[in-house]
Amino acid sequence: MDFQFTEEQKMIVDSLAKYAQNELEPISKEYRDLLIPKDKMREIQQYLLDFGVGVGVVSEELGGMGLDAVTMGLLQFEVAKVSPDIAITSLIQMAVGKLLPLVPDHLKEQYVGPVLAGEKLGCVGMSEPGAGSQVTAVNCRAKLDGDDYVINGEKMWISSGDYSDFIFLLARFNDDPVGGLGLILVDREHGYETTNIEKMGLNSQSTAQVFFQDVRVPASNLMVEPGKAMKALLTMLTSSRPIVGLMALAIAEASLEQAVQYSKDRTQFGKPIAGHQLICAKLGEMATKVQAGKLMSFRALSAIDNGERSDVHSAMAKWFGTEVACEVVGEAMQIHGGNGITKEFPIEYMYRSVRPFMVTEGTNEIQKLAIGRSLTGIDAY
Ligand SMILES: Cc1cc2nc3c(=O)[nH]c(=O)nc-3n(C[C@H](O)[C@H](O)[C@H](O)COP(=O)(O)OP(=O)(O)OC[C@H]3O[C@@H](n4cnc5c(N)ncnc54)[C@H](O)[C@@H]3O)c2cc1C
Repeated sequence: MDFQFTEEQKMIVDSLAKYAQNELEPISKEYRDLLIPKDKMREIQQYLLDFGVGVGVVSEELGGMGLDAVTMGLLQFEVAKVSPDIAITSLIQMAVGKLLPLVPDHLKEQYVGPVLAGEKLGCVGMSEPGAGSQVTAVNCRAKLDGDDYVINGEKMWISSGDYSDFIFLLARFNDDPVGGLGLILVDREHGYETTNIEKMGLNSQSTAQVFFQDVRVPASNLMVEPGKAMKALLTMLTSSRPIVGLMALAIAEASLEQAVQYSKDRTQFGKPIAGHQLICAKLGEMATKVQAGKLMSFRALSAIDNGERSDVHSAMAKWFGTEVACEVVGEAMQIHGGNGITKEFPIEYMYRSVRPFMVTEGTNEIQKLAIGRSLTGIDAY
């Protein structure tokens, strides 16, 4: 394992960090708790493409930049540090990019180019009101009728749902729990509808319910035949989970920087609070947790780049990274005393933004079950 980043990686991260601070941070402040409109979000994502953020992961063969997993992690970290909301939208474009090779050949011209140019935004629809951790309970139905599938059902918690021009939809094609699940490309023009969900945080980006009522989609839009969709989606999730960990840790690192500054500025009992042992030790623990989380994520990402088995590293990085990130942001808030819970300081926003990461991309409980199963071979779901 070598965690020396290349000169190229350092350069791109450096210029992205400057861009994020100068351009994204003001947008993040302007839209705090307000949904960034679709056109604006598309424009932001297009600028980010210059750095490879999002669909930079798409192979050169398909016309993309072919960026490796470690670089994608570094890029997402920098964006999340100033705007977790914008980073989530680019994470979803990354996930869409990972699945682009599965788009049927006759549709590639219609989708691949526009996605790589940032002209079309996509989303990935797995979860439903009745199917969260248990993905095999998916009940959104695709029924063959002539040359079309007719789709009925509902998806829940779909990131970028409101922004989406198309959805990669996990649907049920027959009653076999896993064998019945396939992936189909549904365009907004086919007639699905979306409603945005108000949340405790991350409201500057879209998390949506997606509704399908007798939506007719050409049968030739099938991306992954029934029975093989879960494998394709799990491969995609394995590569994005360590990045989800890193995004949460980016919020934690930003909160740590705030806490360090505050602890030097705030005086109680005749000295800066940083000079009180409990605060000093807290800062030490916070820095160590962030560092440990980052190492685990980059370990998982480098396993992906080296073609090693990475699902267990990925699950570990996701739960550990997001869990310690929540702890660190909570401690940063504590160090801020009463000021930590006011809107005048960014900590309360970070606190509300980091928490959903323990749930998204498979809850932390589910990650632990996957890790445990890898040790015993016994399924405990
Ligand atoms: C911000 C955000 C963005 C998201 N984006 C997307 C997206 O783009 N696309 C998408 O398809 N989904 C998305 N999701 C959905 C996410 O993947 C689900 O929320 C997650 O899988 C959990 O499902 P659930 O919310 O239905 O919780 P449930 O599955 O109902 O779980 C409730 C609780 O029970 C626990 N639990 C469940 N089963 C077990 C078990 N067997 N053993 C122990 N504990 C268990 C869970 O860990 C959790 O604590 C997103 C969610 C969030 C919060």
